Formats: sequence, C-alpha cells, structure tokens
Amino acid sequence: MAETLQFTSKPASLRGVLRSDVPMARHVSWRAGGSADRVYVPADLPDFAAFLRATPRGEPVLVVGLGSNLLVRDGGFRGTVVLLHAVLSSVSLVPSANAGAHVDDAPVDVCFEAGVACPKVARFAAMHGLEGAEFLAGIPGTMGGALAMNAGCYGAQTWERVMRATMVTRDGALVERMPDAFDLGYRHVALAPAATTAKAGTNATTPATISTPPVLGEDEWFVGATMRLDAGDGARSRARIKAFLSRRIATQPLQQPNAGSVFRNPPGDHAARLIESCGLKGMAVGGAEVSARHANFIVNRGGATASDIEALIVAVRERVRADTGIELVPEVRIVGERQ
Ligand SMILES: Cc1cc2nc3c(=O)[nH]c(=O)nc-3n(C[C@H](O)[C@H](O)[C@H](O)COP(=O)(O)OP(=O)(O)OC[C@H]3O[C@@H](n4cnc5c(N)ncnc54)[C@H](O)[C@@H]3O)c2cc1C
Repeated sequence: MAETLQFTSKPASLRGVLRSDVPMARHVSWRAGGSADRVYVPADLPDFAAFLRATPRGEPVLVVGLGSNLLVRDGGFRGTVVLLHAVLSSVSLVPSANAGAHVDDAPVDVCFEAGVACPKVARFAAMHGLEGAEFLAGIPGTMGGALAMNAGCYGAQTWERVMRATMVTRDGALVERMPDAFDLGYRHVALAPAATTAKAGTNATTPATISTPPVLGEDEWFVGATMRLDAGDGARSRARIKAFLSRRIATQPLQQPNAGSVFRNPPGDHAARLIESCGLKGMAVGGAEVSARHANFIVNRGGATASDIEALIVAVRERVRADTGIELVPEVRIVGERQ
C-alpha cells in the first residue's frame, strides 16, 4: 500500500517558502513542462537542512538550480522541488594558509555556495585576478548544477578545479567530500561506491555489513564547494570571458528557450555534427524544433510541451542511430510523470 505523506503544510519552525502545484515551466530554461506538487525555497542552509529533516522519507526531493539542463514531464513531479538559486548565494576567497606571507603566483581557492550562478563565479575570479574559471561565464546554471553535471566547455570542466565539496544528506547533516569520493567523467558525477560502502563479511560467521551507498540527488545534494584557481591577470581573464561569450552568441540560439546541448558528444565526434549530417536541422514535433543554428540544441519555438521535446529527442536519437549506427546519450535530465 502506498505511504500516506504528511507533508501537506509547512512546519512552523521552517523559515522558507512552501508552495503547492507550481508550474515548473517557470523554473526551467525550456519554459515547458508540468507542475511540481510542492516547491520549497529555503531561507538559508540551516533551513534547507531542517527542511530535509522534516520531510517524510517517502517524499521524493528534487534539487533544482536554474533548470538549464532539466525537463519536467507534462504530468508533473510527484514530490518536492527545492530551489537553490539565489538562496545559497555566497562566493568568497578562502583565506590563505600563508596569510602574511603573500606569494604572487600561488594558486588561490574560491569557495562558493551551490545556488551561485556560474557566470558570477567567472566574473568574481576575474575581478580578483584569478584564471581558470572563465569557461563558467557562458553556462547559465548554478554551481550546484555544474557540480552535479560536471559542466564544462572549451576544454575545461568543473571538477578539474574542485578541491572539496560540501553535501547535505537526507537527514540534514553536512558532509565534506573530497573529489576521490566521486566517480567523475564527461558530464557524469556519482558518489563512488568504494568511498561509501562497508565491505561484506568474508566468512559465514561474519555478518554481511553492506550498507546501501547514498545516491547523489536522492540521498545527498551539493551545498557548496571550493575550487583552486591560478593567480594570473584579471584583464586577460576578462578578455577570455568576452571571447567565449561572443562565440556562444555566434553559434547558439540564445533568443529561444532551450537547455543547451541535448546529447553528450560521443567519443571522438560531435553530436551536433552527427545530427546535422542526418539532415535533422529544423525537424520539429509540435512546438519543439531542432535548432537551425546549432543542431544539438532543441528550441521551444512557442507552445512546446515537455512531450513534444521528449518525442523530438527520441526521434533524433532514432534517426542518428539508423543512419550512423551511433547511439546518442542525452545530457539533459528528464524527470516526472507522463500525461
Ligand atoms: C544556452 C545554454 C548553454 C549551455 N551551455 C553549457 C555548456 O557549455 N556546458 C555545460 O556543461 N552545460 C551547458 N548547459 C547546460 C546547463 O547550463 C548545465 O548543465 C548547468 O550546469 C546546469 O545547472 P543548473 O543549475 O541549471 O541545473 P538544473 O538544470 O537545475 O539541474 C540539472 C541537474 O542537476 C541536479 N542538481 C542541481 N543542483 C544540484 C545540487 N545542488 N546538488 C545536487 N544535484 C543538483 C538537478 O537535480 C538535475 O538533475 C547550457 C544550457 C543552456 C540553456
């Protein structure tokens, strides 16, 4: 029998804002899709932790940053979405261990919370004469999303610079994790089982002690991290940011709602090249269309539903598989119920 959820109103001790039946089209960059049963905007980190402690175990929790890599199906999300953008919003330099013995070219650590927009970190770093975060300038998500996706571009990825991350668990506890606690790859981040699982007993008298490893996005979420950047030249960093942004304006359909690259690039190739070579630019389902400007982008040309977008993703994938034998893997996350 399905568990009856008690989370129908906000416990008085919570200071954030809880709303019901919230259209997620407002909170994802595709501007399409269904509603979340509940949306919680925490007041701050302690309030987010308290919210998790107060939430019944059976309630699915989906943490969302800027929704720039996310689609909620038209039938909606049965659970609570937690919105972190602009809530966990601090970014600062980590005080150096050698304060007082300033070394001009020593790397500098930047500490940020998960709700900070990626471009803010790129600008903050440039303002402090630090290099290595420029690639973040054109990624329209939060740092929490960048950590969860290992976001990257122009030869750089988020986790190459991360020194440690702070997570909040389902019980509301804060846990600090080093990069080796994660299984990291191209647009792939998971908690590494080896870092979190107890070993099974090796003989009949030792009871097995396998505990279920926590799952990123179900049992733990990013609330902040520290990145190590190179001491450099702020002007050079700003020039690089400008060049990266110009390149995006020239190549991406930024005037229409989209979620960036829909598919990961297969090894040694580009998803956009494959899609274009199959003649799929301009292919449409309802209000969703393969962009004529960038074939790995699907745009909402007006009135697209989540099912239009998902059907187009499936159709593109099938055509590319049929024509080239290559199986494209979606980069965008799709959650929720079909209508
Ligand atoms: C125009 C455009 C250009 C883009 N260019 C790039 C690019 O160059 N490179 C690139 O990598 N991506 C790119 N993207 C995709 C997107 O911006 C990135 O994936 C970004 O990191 C997502 O961040 P977000 O805050 O929007 O995440 P969301 O879309 O809100 O969430 C994405 C996933 O991360 C999870 N998540 C979010 N926050 C947390 C958290 N705090 N803890 C745990 N899980 C969390 C969500 O549950 C979801 O599964 C682009 C998107 C657009 C619209």
